[in-house]
Parts: sequence; structure tokens; C-alpha cells
Amino acid sequence: MSQQTKLSAALPRVNQLPKNTTQNSASLWEGLPSFVLTDLQQTLHNWYGKQGRDLPWRRSRDPYAIWVSEIMLQQTQVKTVIPYYQRWLDQFPTVEALAAANQQAVLKAWEGLGYYARARNLHRAAEQIANIHGGRFPSDLESVMALPGIGRTTAGGILSAAFNSPLAILDGNVKRVLARLVALDRPPNKAIKELWRLSEAILEPQNPRDFNQALMDLGATLCTRHNPSCLLCPWRRHCQAYNLNVQSELPMSESRAPLPHKQIGVAVIRNDQGQILIDRRRQEGLLGGLWEFPGGKIEPKETVQDCIQREIREELGIEIEVGDRLIVVDHAYTHFRVTLNVYHCRLLSGEPQPLECDEVLWVTLDEIDQYPFPKANTKIIEALKQSEIN
Ligand code: SF4
Repeated sequence: MSQQTKLSAALPRVNQLPKNTTQNSASLWEGLPSFVLTDLQQTLHNWYGKQGRDLPWRRSRDPYAIWVSEIMLQQTQVKTVIPYYQRWLDQFPTVEALAAANQQAVLKAWEGLGYYARARNLHRAAEQIANIHGGRFPSDLESVMALPGIGRTTAGGILSAAFNSPLAILDGNVKRVLARLVALDRPPNKAIKELWRLSEAILEPQNPRDFNQALMDLGATLCTRHNPSCLLCPWRRHCQAYNLNVQSELPMSESRAPLPHKQIGVAVIRNDQGQILIDRRRQEGLLGGLWEFPGGKIEPKETVQDCIQREIREELGIEIEVGDRLIVVDHAYTHFRVTLNVYHCRLLSGEPQPLECDEVLWVTLDEIDQYPFPKANTKIIEALKQSEIN
């Protein structure tokens, strides 16, 4: 048997993987021959030395800066993150500076990145680090995972990058690479324990920092979701998906129901002075702490206009007149889609009260940019500014 055939045969093949035995199949990865592990580590190491990406956070060993980058990268692409990361560190250069900032400044700095729970958790975690750890980012896994917004893979990413700790990672890209490496016969989320074991088994113990970064780069640049560049891949020799020519079919996907779709009526309410009414969402829940234009879900058989009047009465205790439509905005969140039907409105009577939000405010269009808004609402602001020009 040639060396190449021996290496390929050392990993389990797709039709050898037991079905629906996620607890018992951990041993699949535990018996990898050490020469395969060594070859995976060395080939990845060499590839990373030549092809690794030069990213700003990789020039730092400051766990705070690395933590910020890890959180920003959780749901967002590298090219989007880079300017946010640099602005963030200018504005909040240390854990103490972030802990001392007020939440509105933190949300404003995050505006446009989405998934705002990440910013709120960064802020809360910075306060905990300042209070419990004397302002020093902890260096042990348990303490890091006790901080808000930090799970096992993020903790592994931070600690391996900052302290070269021998901790594995398993983010979305890594799941895809490993699922292809072993030609996993089920969706990765149905084999989490085994994938963690595999990620731990192949981690290069002398150099976990570079190994994890290299694994992320492999997933981001070659082993992409669509059209993976297998011919350039350092793991091609061992990759079961490539050897079985099923790399485009893996990883298997979960069958998902279509996202629910909510129709929302939204009011841009002006008073006699021409000011606009905005409200701050409650802390708990989606987009907590951000500002928005008031409104709510359109009930069955309700017109948009009726919905807006009812919602404003219930939420703010005022009466309004609904005028012309300003804009319709479609937006997709992780678990649902919304269509915002936005109307110009005029205050008729009453004093707005924060009945279902934390705060209400009358602002001019010039002042509105001072407040952090979710992305869908920034389109409304743009349309408002455009309508003033026209
Ligand atoms: S050979 Fe292809 S499918 Fe396998 S790890 Fe490399 S890029 Fe991914």
C-alpha cells in the first residue's frame, strides 16, 4: 500500500460512519494514527506560513483587542469588521475604557454591525472584568467562559491567540472543514461532541495559536461553503470529502422551515414644531437599548393605518393622524423576516409616555444621528432626509 493510500485509509469514510450514534461515535476520531495528525498539522502550518491572512488583530497579543475581534467576527465578515475594530479600539482602547463608557456610546459604536446583544455583552463583560478581575482579562478557560457572550469556541479563540493556550475552536467555518475532512454523514450540529473531539485531536499542541488561526483561514479562504478550492488545499490528501468527490454536498444541511414573515406598521410622528418621536427599546430582547420609530405588528384583517393608530395608542398613549406612506423596508433577522410599512404621522393629542419601551424622545432630523438605530431603521432615516431635500 502506498503512503498516500495508507494516509487516506486512516480516516473514516462516509459509509463507515454509524448513523444516529452521536454519543458512541467519539472513538472515530480518537484512533487517528499519529502520522496522520502530524501530517495534517505540518501541511496546515506550512500553508499558513505562505497563505495566512494579515489581519490587524493578529498583530496583537492583547486579549482585550483579540476578544473584541472575536466577538465582531462571530456574525460578520472580515472586511466589514476591520474598520469597526479599528474605530472601536480608538474609542475604547482598554477594558477599563469600555467598562467606563455608557451603553448608548457602545451601541452607537456598534451601529450597523447587527446582532446588538454582542455589543451589550461586551460592555457587561468589560464591567465584570473591571470589577472582578481588576481590569485584567482572565487567562483561564473557566473565568473567560463565565463572561457574558463568550462560549467555548470564542474562549478557545481568544486564549489560544492571546496566550498560546492549547484550546481547540469550533466555529461555523471549522465545523465545515472538519465535517468535510471526515465526510461527516449528518449535519455538523448533530455531531457537535465528535467535532469538538476532532478539533482537539488535531490541534498542534506546540503552536495552538497559529494552528487555530490557520484552521479559520482554511475555512474562510479555501474550504468555502460553495465551490471549495480543493486543488489548493493542504489537506486534500487526507480529506474524505475530496477523495469521495462529495465536497460540494457536505456538510449536510439541516432541513429548515421558511422564516416567519411579520408585517409591521411604523409611524414617523411629528409634532407642531416639526420634531420626530423616537423610542428606546427595552434592554431585554432583540435590539435592546437601540432607538426606533414606534409601531407594531399588523393583525389579521387590520389595515396598516389602523395598526399604526392602535399601536401608538397602546405603546405611547397618544392619538395620531396617519398620512402618506414614506417607505417600505424589508429586513431579515436570523429567525424571521419583517416588512416595515412606514407612514408619515401627525400628533393630534396627548403626551407620549414610555408604556412599552424604556424612553421616548422628540428629536430634530439633525439630531437623530446621535442615537443608535437598528439597520432597518437607518433606511427610514435616509428616506426622511431624502424627502426633506425633495
Ligand atoms: S480538500 Fe476541499 S473539502 Fe477537503 S478540506 Fe480541503 S478545501 Fe475542504
